[in-house]
Parts: sequence; structure tokens; C-alpha cells
Amino acid sequence: MNRVYYPKLPDTTHEKPERSAIGGDTHISAAIKSPDFSESRGHSMKTSTEIGSIAQHIGEERAVEATAKAGFDAWDFSMFTMGSDGWAAPGMIAAGRHLVTARHLRQIGLDNGILCNQSHAPFPSPKMLDYLKPAIECTAEAGGKICIIHPDNDGTPEQNAEMYARLLPFAKSCGVKIATENMFNWDSETDEALFAACATPESFSAHLDAVKDADLVACLDIGHAEMRGVGTSAVAMIHTLGERLQALHIHDNDRRYDLHQIPFSQSIDFAPIVKALQEIHYAGYFTLEANSFLRQYTEDTLMTGLRQMSEAASKLAAMFAGALD
Ligand SMILES: [Zn+2]
Repeated sequence: MNRVYYPKLPDTTHEKPERSAIGGDTHISAAIKSPDFSESRGHSMKTSTEIGSIAQHIGEERAVEATAKAGFDAWDFSMFTMGSDGWAAPGMIAAGRHLVTARHLRQIGLDNGILCNQSHAPFPSPKMLDYLKPAIECTAEAGGKICIIHPDNDGTPEQNAEMYARLLPFAKSCGVKIATENMFNWDSETDEALFAACATPESFSAHLDAVKDADLVACLDIGHAEMRGVGTSAVAMIHTLGERLQALHIHDNDRRYDLHQIPFSQSIDFAPIVKALQEIHYAGYFTLEANSFLRQYTEDTLMTGLRQMSEAASKLAAMFAGALD
């Protein structure tokens, strides 16, 4: 999908964006000024969500605002349209305008009391190599600390290590960590997932060990790990990754298909997963990647779905903190 969000970029990054109400609500920034969401919820774990599925309805600027309004502590910068028309078309990147956009979004978040915790580079990585450094620098400009870059599904740990090793010096200079993620392939005959890079504890460890750099960390996609056919579970992955696990993609599915639905709506049992996260003293964000969930909503009803997502993320964070069983 090609969308143009910034026909006219602001000249200054700290200019207040024009705001319009979402879903018939009053001015967005008015409702979200509680000083500390985490304290008011009685736990310290922070929540976040990818903004790509929100932006499909209302564009990135309003997506960041809406994320704050729904109650999340942070936003996850989806960069899937990088390289196509829009804020990060090749010409925009050549002119450095992608960084202006990233700074602009950062400021919108700050104006609304939230920050960017992580980002998602465009994929598949082998076809998007030219955009991985721009994705890393956009992460830094947005204020994010981790840029998730998929491994090549079919690459060996050593082959993928070459890509990460090439990117790491640049990422370090930006103050951004790179996270690799557990992937899957698909068996059309059995109609279920198949092994791919980082899909199992052994493969994920081998990928990290092949680079051996504290700035290459793990993002566990919980939905991917729970699909039958990949040969593992989220709990097994968490225990193996330990302190190297610093980011999450949280979503629910029927344990067969990659549904990317809101937690607690499908078949994944999140209680043992949260317990495993407690056991390894996970200290990162609870970041949702339930990007299929908002498809059923319209621009006018979007906030209803987004608030449900925030509640689901908050419930997970509260379970982690022991507030719920
Ligand atoms: Zn993911």
C-alpha cells in the first residue's frame, strides 16, 4: 500500500502538528495527560503497540496521538512502507526528509506523553538492504532504542551474522540496538508453519552467538513461537534467550495460523509466558503486534479497538507485576 502522509512536511520539527479529533472524541491531547500511566495502573511494566495498523486508518501522525490516548506508554515505529511512496520514498530518504518525519513523530509522541520504544524495519530484509540503515537512523531520530530487523528466513546463522555485523557499527553510532526475530516458513501441503531462521531456541541462540555483540538482541514474536509446526513454544524461547530477550511482539493466534490478533482472544495461554518473562527478569516493554485486529474497525470506531488493545497490554503487564493471577 502506498500512502502519502506528508505532502507538506513541517519546516521545524518542533512545530505543533495540527490535530483533528479521532472517532468523534474531543481534542486528543486533552484526555491523556495523566502524569504516569504505570503508577496509576499499579505496575511498572510499560506497554506499547505498533502504529502501522493504526496508520492505515488515520496516518502516522494521528496514529501516535491515538496510541497515547488509548493509554499505551509508548509507540512502536512501523516502517513497512519505507522505500515506497510516502514519507520514506527513495527521494525523501536521499533528501534526508525521512529523518524530519521521524523527529516530527517523536515530538507528537512527547507532546502527548509517550515515547517511541522500538521500531520495525521493512522486510524481507534481503530485498530491503538499502533501507536498513535509514530504518536505524529513523529509529534514533524517533527516540527508539531498538530496531527490529528480520533475519533472512532461509539464511544460516553465519549468513545472517554478516548482515547484522555490517549494520552494527552504524547502529552503535546511532545509539540503537538491533533485534533479530524468530521467523517461520509455510508448508502449503500440511498447511502449517515450518522452521525458519531463529524459529527455535537453538537457531535463535546460534544467530546471536554468531555475532556475539551486546547490541544485537532478541525480539521474541510470541505468536510465531506458538504456531504448531515451528517446533517450540514461547516459554522455551524465553528461557533460552534469558537476558538477551529485550523486545517482544505480542499477539494471539489459534496456534496454527499467524493471525496477529489481540491477546486473550484466541488460543495462546499467556499466563505461563508471562511467568517465564518474570523468571528471566524481562525488563523491556510489552509491545503488541496485533496488527490484524484493527482491520474490523473504521476511522470512526478505531479508538474502541485501540483501547481494548491497550487494556490487553496492560493486563499482561499487570500479570507480570503479580497484580493478577
Ligand atoms: Zn513480529
